[in-house]
Amino acid sequence: MRDSYGRKIDYLRVSVTDRCNLRCRYCMPEGSEWIPMEEIMTFEEITRLCREAAALGITKYKITGGEPLVRRGCPALVRMIREIPGVQQVTMTSNGILLERYLTELLDAGLSAVNVSLDTTDREKYREITGFDELPQVLRSIRAASGAGLRVKINAVLQEGLNAGAWEGLLHFTEEGLADIRFIELMPIGRGTDGHMVSNEELFRKIEARYGPLVRDGAFHGNGPAVYYRVADWPRSVGFISAIHGKFCGHCNRLRLSSTGQLKPCLCYEDSLDVRGALRGGSDAGVRDILKKAIQGKPRMHCFEDTGAVTERQEMAKIGG
Ligand code: SAM
Ligand code: SF4
Repeated sequence: MRDSYGRKIDYLRVSVTDRCNLRCRYCMPEGSEWIPMEEIMTFEEITRLCREAAALGITKYKITGGEPLVRRGCPALVRMIREIPGVQQVTMTSNGILLERYLTELLDAGLSAVNVSLDTTDREKYREITGFDELPQVLRSIRAASGAGLRVKINAVLQEGLNAGAWEGLLHFTEEGLADIRFIELMPIGRGTDGHMVSNEELFRKIEARYGPLVRDGAFHGNGPAVYYRVADWPRSVGFISAIHGKFCGHCNRLRLSSTGQLKPCLCYEDSLDVRGALRGGSDAGVRDILKKAIQGKPRMHCFEDTGAVTERQEMAKIGG
């Protein structure tokens, strides 16, 4: 289905939990309160929603959170969505801690690809950013997933005064052929307003100064707003998600579903439509109508670059990043 600006909406990000086994300081502050389980959508409710979404032409699904793999039975949900007629792709974004443990189940369930969020390859810095000493396990998971033939992308958020220089270590995954890397500009969402973003323009220049010219890689890599480049002779690509400096809204293709059943037309704004009520007491047609409204209600563009604007105040982990 197309939105009111003519954009084809074919991608849904599905948050399955607000909980997480890390406390990345820009995402989930210490002391966050958990949403009670009865407010969280069941897998059956999520699958019913996805079935209606698929009927509207949404063919690609990303399982996210919080950390999706802390929710028991997550591979079963991958399978349930994968089996819906019309669904072409189910992917996941994870911090990687439990990925090695669930890898076989996820592959059996039909997972198409995985994004692993990793902001540094320095063990002490990792602990400082996330609150836990889990870097070795994340590295094992990345190798295991890549070794099993799953397409892996690493998502990194760099911040001045924290991990601005981490790009050098992270680029080794790409040079080695284990994963694509994507650098995401920190967005002023929830706790993200406290940090200092590293501009992708600046980073681009630093990478070129170190490794030589970055050549645009037009090959298809995913569903998102990343723009990809290649360093000569490297087997995988370097992507930039310039959330602040790049206005990619003209190509936006997505909706978000929070773990409590709020459909969010755009990450930047606080507006959302409740679909859980319809799933718990309404008809399939009612659910589909809410999906249509969310698609039609997508704003033309985000306003992250406007420092005076009120952007989403909830943390990413609550919305479903
Ligand atoms: N736990 C999973 C993970 O870490 O991949 C999935 C959820 S997490 C909220 C999804 C992504 O959102 C992560 O890559 C994280 O770095 C990113 N993120 C969280 N807060 C952000 C912010 N304010 N700006 C940019 N990215 C953010
Ligand atoms: Fe958890 Fe992912 Fe947020 Fe880190 S970025 S706290 S891993 S949800």
